[in-house]
Amino acid sequence: MADVDQAELGDGQVRVRNLFMSVDPYMRGRMNDVKSYVPPFQVGEPLEGQAVGEVTETRDPQLAVGDLVLHNLGWREETVLGSSAGRKIHPPEGMSPSAYLGVLGGTTLTAYVGLLDIAGLKPGDTVFVSGAAGAVGSVAGQIAKLKGAARVIGSAGSDEKVRWLREIGFDAAFNYKTEPVFSQLKEAAPDGIDVYFDNVGGEHLEAALSVLNPHGRVALCGAIAHYNATEPPPGPRNLGLAITKRLTLRGFIIFDHMGRYPEMISDVSGWLRDGTLQHAETVVEGLHNAPQAFLDLLNGGNTGKMVVRL
Ligand code: NDP
Repeated sequence: MADVDQAELGDGQVRVRNLFMSVDPYMRGRMNDVKSYVPPFQVGEPLEGQAVGEVTETRDPQLAVGDLVLHNLGWREETVLGSSAGRKIHPPEGMSPSAYLGVLGGTTLTAYVGLLDIAGLKPGDTVFVSGAAGAVGSVAGQIAKLKGAARVIGSAGSDEKVRWLREIGFDAAFNYKTEPVFSQLKEAAPDGIDVYFDNVGGEHLEAALSVLNPHGRVALCGAIAHYNATEPPPGPRNLGLAITKRLTLRGFIIFDHMGRYPEMISDVSGWLRDGTLQHAETVVEGLHNAPQAFLDLLNGGNTGKMVVRL
């Protein structure tokens, strides 16, 4: 941690005291010195990531002291934002501003786009979601049900998470750490699956390829099983099934689909109001605990969205 003096505000700038910041798996990829869809973090420079904060001083006519803004300069308690670097937010009554880092934000948009646009969910589908007790996965499974899936199955890394998945409406759930994924998935989906929402890769992807029905669709959202790999991970040994079963496997990055936000938020606001969509947050206290929160996220220490309260 470092203390730095904050600059005077220029025209159009605001000073913001951060209230919550997000820790996300994609940040692990930014710690490798490789070309990707976002540039790597720089040694000696502060990390960054989504945060919500309160305006404490303003030279921007669009923002008043006390306004809440969503922006990308987390990993610090206070920051200065230029005009249009923050989006003003209005949390619905009874909801914490942190919801904009999860259920009202990018993780839900990822679940929504992945299921509806990438996997082309159809009523009557049987859907399997890995990483199901996390921010994206827990919402993806519920959206699948709300949009007409016949059966939704989730996998997660503890019996407690599995119990929670059943509580929030998954038809079946299993702990991938206790038995092989393939045998548990086959048992949960005796008639096969039509859609696989992949947050994990590795053994999960291989098992899903084996259990997918002909013309099944896979949304390749994340591959967290590989993020700390020190060697290239082995590919699924049964990828040939994609040919014989005429499967579609499609990767996506949510930044390309931000235009879907208004429709997503309209659906999600309704589901939150009438109580049909459940969401959880794991809240860690204090900037000094943020590195550990990030490590815990990669090791399954969260249920729902992992956030840090500043
Ligand atoms: P989560 O809230 O799901 O947190 C990560 C979870 O991954 C952990 O809680 C842990 O749960 C699980 N996990 C960690 N290691 C493994 C492993 N080896 N095998 C299986 N599960 C593991 O994070 P998010 O919801 O933010 O992200 C979920 C996925 O979606 C990630 O892969 C992320 O990179 C991806 N993503 C992709 C986006 C895109 O644009 N394509 C946008 C946002 C996220 P458990 O206890 O169950 O192991």
